Amino acid sequence: MRDLKAELEARKSASLYRSCVTNEQGSGVHTLVDGQLLLNFCSNDYLGLSNHPDLVKALQQGADQYGVGSGAAHLVSGHSRAHQTLEEELAEFTGYPRALLFSTGYMANLGVISALVGAGDLVLEDRLNHASLLDGALISRARLSRYQHNSMADLANQLDKRSANQRLIASDGVFSMDGDLANLPGLVDVATSSESWLMIDDAHGFGVLGEHGQGIRHHFGVSTTELPVYMATLGKAAGVFGAFVAGSDDLIETIIQFARSYIYTTALPPALAEATRASLKIIQSESWRRQQLQQHIQQFRKGVIATGLKLMPSETAIQPIVVGSAEKAVRMSSALRQRGIWVSAIRPPTVPEGTARLRVTLSAEHTEAEVSKLIDAITEVATL
Ligand SMILES: *Cc1c(COP(=O)(O)O)cnc(C)c1O
Repeated sequence: MRDLKAELEARKSASLYRSCVTNEQGSGVHTLVDGQLLLNFCSNDYLGLSNHPDLVKALQQGADQYGVGSGAAHLVSGHSRAHQTLEEELAEFTGYPRALLFSTGYMANLGVISALVGAGDLVLEDRLNHASLLDGALISRARLSRYQHNSMADLANQLDKRSANQRLIASDGVFSMDGDLANLPGLVDVATSSESWLMIDDAHGFGVLGEHGQGIRHHFGVSTTELPVYMATLGKAAGVFGAFVAGSDDLIETIIQFARSYIYTTALPPALAEATRASLKIIQSESWRRQQLQQHIQQFRKGVIATGLKLMPSETAIQPIVVGSAEKAVRMSSALRQRGIWVSAIRPPTVPEGTARLRVTLSAEHTEAEVSKLIDAITEVATL
């Protein structure tokens, strides 16, 4: 039998131990941890919607109308009018014929990939893809091949080398730990010429990219035929919980028939669907949130680069500072905590060995003064 205690101790001494920090005050940028007020610079609430009064009210009214639990899976009796309307609104917003809700993004990726491919098929994934895309390929029993980050040459080469019945290329839209964008036009070219499915996980682009927040497809001006499988989550910029996949009528019907993580699980609480509908309205109408976020991104990059520190080539709200060792990342993260700033250390295996980082994320809810405070604190702790 495994010696769990010894394994846990080894993880601790390698600075790789993970544990939860208990936040007493909700998900906004001002948080309370162990009696200390902290400015949160590591949440994915990019537009500052998770605490918005319209969302809170929609959730409350949704609970009044539908109760709390959905009571069953969608295909049994758990699919409410709230879910149905949200799916229709998501389809319209993203420009696809249909959209389908999942309880989480993790489950959406497992379900979509395993509904589309199986034994004898091939899944090609960017090396830096989110774990849920990798796990989706693993449970599908298709062969999984990972290409060099954003390298269309490596992707094309692997497609040439391996034969398969069906081919699916899957990529993060915005890479979750690096903040850079997938080369979507390049992926479309390769997918089209190789007759492969193309799937983008837009967890960090939905709500943020595109003129009205419609996501990465609009950002690059790619058509729905060129990007047949669009997936995004609702717990990040949308500020709620859950996920969806958008595509053609036939794609969505296929997922409903075959995605086990859709079929065999309880539907989201309908009140959450109501809160998401309220969120969608704000995402569409309040472009100032995206503008504010862009200003913070520019301010942060300019300020940090001026101090001589290196940033990754990211134009998004995800602005990681790679420090190398896990030990140093943890040390810097706690030094920031002492200065009232919360930035979590991201370590292997979430990121490759030797690239532990502080994953700074910015939100429209931050103020210019708060971003300045962050820059000053990072400058101070960088020399520790
Ligand atoms: C967060 C995330 C997911 C998982 O979504 P959840 O709704 O949190 O399960 C999937 N893919 C990417 C790229 C993510 O960042």
